[in-house]
Order: sequence, then structure tokens, then C-alpha cells
Amino acid sequence: MATINENYLKLSESYLFSEIANRVNKYTKEHSDADVIRMGIGDVTRPLPEAVVEAMHKAVDEMGKAETFHGYGPEQGYDFLKNAIGDYYLKKGIKLDPDEIFISDGAKSDLGNILDILGSDNTVLVTDPVYPVYVDTNVMAGRKILYADASSDNGFLPMPDESLAADIIYLCSPNNPTGAVYDYEQLKAWVDFANKHNSILLFDSAYEAFVVDKLPRSIYEIDGAKTCAIEFCSFSKTAGFTGTRCGYTVVPFDLIVNKTKVNKLWLRRQTTKFNGVSYIVQRGAAAVFTEEGQKQIAENLNYYRQNAKIITDTLDGLKIWYVGGKNSPYIWLKCPKNMGSWEFFDFLLDKAWVVGTPGEGFGKEGEGFFRLTAFSSAEKTKEAMQRLKKCLSNFA
Ligand code: PLP
Repeated sequence: MATINENYLKLSESYLFSEIANRVNKYTKEHSDADVIRMGIGDVTRPLPEAVVEAMHKAVDEMGKAETFHGYGPEQGYDFLKNAIGDYYLKKGIKLDPDEIFISDGAKSDLGNILDILGSDNTVLVTDPVYPVYVDTNVMAGRKILYADASSDNGFLPMPDESLAADIIYLCSPNNPTGAVYDYEQLKAWVDFANKHNSILLFDSAYEAFVVDKLPRSIYEIDGAKTCAIEFCSFSKTAGFTGTRCGYTVVPFDLIVNKTKVNKLWLRRQTTKFNGVSYIVQRGAAAVFTEEGQKQIAENLNYYRQNAKIITDTLDGLKIWYVGGKNSPYIWLKCPKNMGSWEFFDFLLDKAWVVGTPGEGFGKEGEGFFRLTAFSSAEKTKEAMQRLKKCLSNFA
């Protein structure tokens, strides 16, 4: 008799975004004049850079001719893209072998798939609040999960704690949902902790391109990281690939668990279960690293940074506590007037017709906090912040 993976039954309903949609639908049905602005979206709005589009057009043409057609490619990605990523790391002072780089259809897949090659009895440490994928993928695998609590006291950047040693540690910096970014010293403490406990650090750097200050953009900027860390990165937010799908994962040769090279296991996993990202998409991704591509993504990133500044300037003016926004597209704010997350959600929807994301949806430590994103248009961001200012001054 077939059975199912009972762990799936232990997953909590992913009710956050459906609950937001329900509340907004109900509200707009009752208030047909409400011109709602969505400031909670985690998707980008700027289109693909021209250099990417051009490269993809060219690749499509190649695919249409027998002489330049590409069939199955290397599962772990084409050399032209792995080399471009390797050069990008070199500019940050990090030397990688191309075979330490694996191309994927995005960070989310690899963050889930990597668990295939790790022991099912491994314990897991995540931060609270947390990007829900880290939790759900481990619940599916039946692993025990520990939580490192973030709060305004630690700037939403929890540090290692001997009472919370785990085999697998997830860190996301710049962080989703909080926008907080670890500095060099803090990441060094995590790397030392992981090496000391023979833990694997799963480092999610999906938002590294948003960093402008002197803060780490890769875990491999930290001494000792190559013996404990795997890094997941994505073209989604950097270059507008949320719908195009491409990312990469770095698994250093020096990462050895139980005398086994993790890189070798991951290669085995990928070559067995994955058939690579399309040639066309990889050509598009490689164009991100050309001079033109870099210029064009910088324009888009600056566009979002300007939006983030409009938000943080408004919060500064209102004397509302927040983290993020400067080196991240996310702004994590303390709900004014000591409101709860959902209370502030309803208040903002009703009084300003603005939608954000209640912090509580990312974990218990998110209660009383709220996430705004910089991914809307400049016009809408300005309008939303005007409305926020107005409704809070009326409320005072
Ligand atoms: N990691 C974090 C922290 C994210 O916020 C996201 C997407 O929102 C991802 C990974 C997934 O990225 P991708 O689009 O490459 O799957």
C-alpha cells in the first residue's frame, strides 16, 4: 500500500498571503472607491534590462538553426555563465573554481533541494522572523527546527548562542523579511560557530546586490567560510528574473562533512534530478555581467533604492522605529501606537488604502512589526507615504 510523506500534514497553512488577499478583497468590495496601493509585494516591477533581452533574442535565433542549436546542456550550467559569475566573485576578492558554482532555476529550488544531501536527523536553526521556505522545507523532511529570536534589541540580527547549536544553520543577509544586514564581525562569529560545531551554514544572499555600505555581500568574504558554508544567490531581484528564473549556488570544494565532499554529492544530486536551466535563460543571465548589463541593473537597483529612501525618510519624519531600507529593498517597521501586526494592517488599509505585510506572518517575533517593500513604482511609493503621513497625523 502506498503511503504519503506524513510530514506534509504537519505543515502549517501558508495563510499569510491568502489572508492578505482575502482582507483586501473584502475591503475593496465594500469600498469600491478604494484606490489600493500594494506595498507588500516581494516581486520586482522593473522589466528585464535591455542587454538581457538582446542576449535572449540572440539565443532564441541560435536555437532555431541546426548549426547553433543547443540540446541538453551541462546540468550544473554552461561555462560561459559560471565563468562570468566567477569573475563577479573575483571582483569581491573571492576566488572560486567554476566547478564550485552551480546554475539553477532560482534560489528557492536550491534552498529546498540542498536538503536532499543532508542527513534527515540533522537539527536546524533558523531566525525568527524567517523566510518561510527554510521552515517548510525542513518540516517536509521531518527535521527538528530551533529558532534564534530576532528583536529590536539585537537589531533583528540574532547572534550565535551555545544553547542553540544545530547541524544546519540558515542565515539570510540582507534579510527577508527584515532588511537587516550582518556586518563582517557578526558573520565571522557565525562562521566560527559553524566551524566549531561542524555545522553547515546555508547562506542566502538573494539580496546582496542591494548592499551599498561596507557590509558583506558574500559569506566567502569571511575567513573560514569555505569549510562550512553554502551560498545561494539569484538573478530575481538583482536583474528582474523573478519570472525568467535563474540563480546559482556555490558549494566550495573545501566543505567536507563526514569525510565526504559536499560539492561532489551536490553534483551527483543535480546531475540525477535536474537537467539544467535553458540555454536562452543562461545567455540572458550572462548578459547581466557585461558592462551594459551591469549599468542597466544598477539603474533598476537605484530605482528601488530611491523608493526605499522615500519610505525611510517618511518613517524618520514620523519617528517610527525600523530596520532595513538602506542596503535592502525591505523595510521592517515597528507598528505605530503599539498596534499589533494585523491591527496595523487593517488600520493602514482602511485609513490609507495601503497594503503591507504583517510581521507576524513571518514568525512569532514579527508580532508588532510590519514589512514594506521598495518594489512598487516611484509614484505609488510617494503616494503611499503621503497617505501614511496623513493618516498617522490624523490619528495622533
Ligand atoms: N531567498 C529569499 C530570501 C527570497 O526572498 C527569495 C524570493 O523572494 C528567494 C530566496 C527566492 O529567489 P528565487 O526567485 O531565485 O527563487
